[in-house]
Amino acid sequence: MHVPFCASRCDYCDFYSTRAGTLGSNFEEIRERFVDRLLEDVRLRLEGTASVPTVYIGGGTPSILRESLGRLLEGLRRLLPNMPLEFTVESNPESADESFFKTCCSNGVTRVSLGAQTFSEKSRKAVNRLGDADAIRESLAYAKRFFPHAFSVDLIAGLPFQTAAVIQNDVEQALAFEPAHISLYSLTLAEGTPLEKRIRKNADCFQRIDDLWLFGRDLLEQSGYMAYEISNFSLEGKESLHNKRYWRMENWTGVGPSASGTVVDDETGTGVRLTIKPDIALYLKKTEQDTEYLDRDTLIKESLLMGFRSLDGPDAALFLKRFHKPITAFIPRTIDAWRNKGLFEQNRIALTKEGLLFLNQFLVEAFREIGG
Ligand code: SF4
Repeated sequence: MHVPFCASRCDYCDFYSTRAGTLGSNFEEIRERFVDRLLEDVRLRLEGTASVPTVYIGGGTPSILRESLGRLLEGLRRLLPNMPLEFTVESNPESADESFFKTCCSNGVTRVSLGAQTFSEKSRKAVNRLGDADAIRESLAYAKRFFPHAFSVDLIAGLPFQTAAVIQNDVEQALAFEPAHISLYSLTLAEGTPLEKRIRKNADCFQRIDDLWLFGRDLLEQSGYMAYEISNFSLEGKESLHNKRYWRMENWTGVGPSASGTVVDDETGTGVRLTIKPDIALYLKKTEQDTEYLDRDTLIKESLLMGFRSLDGPDAALFLKRFHKPITAFIPRTIDAWRNKGLFEQNRIALTKEGLLFLNQFLVEAFREIGG
């Protein structure tokens, strides 16, 4: 579920969202109408659905919905056919106050994800990221109180002015609150973002993004947080079920502007992807979406692309059920070559931890072997 509002726009972000300030005093009314539209969309999409294993409310900034968030969560509880095993809400420090956590806690949310990114004021300012280190610590303290052992923290490696010492401080400060889960992303210079445009002119303030990420990864692993996907780390048994469902290419539905959902037909290995138009003004009136038909070849490649991100590898049984041949029948030479390099597990269909660092190269070779 995509909530397309933010208090300000971060310079590296290419997600669809609108600055709440630009909506002026209308924002309260708009967020109420937005919640009505979301609930209506959910109702229509869930008709006949027997079970919803996981829910993820992301964005944008869901915590910016303030009082309207309570109404959204109450509405969802009425609409969902069962209580999901995992129900996550994302938040940003500047709006994740005590009332946000109380609202989540009393409405069936099982997990909160907090976008900290970095505690460094210099790095935050350099990318126009709102909130400061005090606000992050305050939200983390609430997260620990209301969702002990059930919250996640997002960090980014490679922001301007970040050094190894800054990453170390970011990791240590986050871990002091004992999160169950950490996402450590490498900074992506998405095309067209203000940061990408700036970096083209001046790359001086950047250390090598990969080195910083590897340093952060090692710190997390030394602290007992094990990688289970390229950018995700958790204490034992605390992996995100929702993320794992994505990587296995299980079916999901998306609501809110720019959200997409994918449904795969297990018999034919073909599918449909619906993407709601990224336009909040339009969404408040009606749901318009693009439909993309996914043929078998496309879905085979997507299943490998998503599945090999995870340390468990793709879901071999689901792959066989959908495409009627095992993964080894599609890419035997690539698997052999990568096993010989020690970058592919000997007894499982998965890259090793080191192999994961070369995922893109692995996929290039795998897709070439499949043809295309
Ligand atoms: S708060 Fe998140 S969604 Fe909003 S602009 Fe920043 S990174 Fe993007």
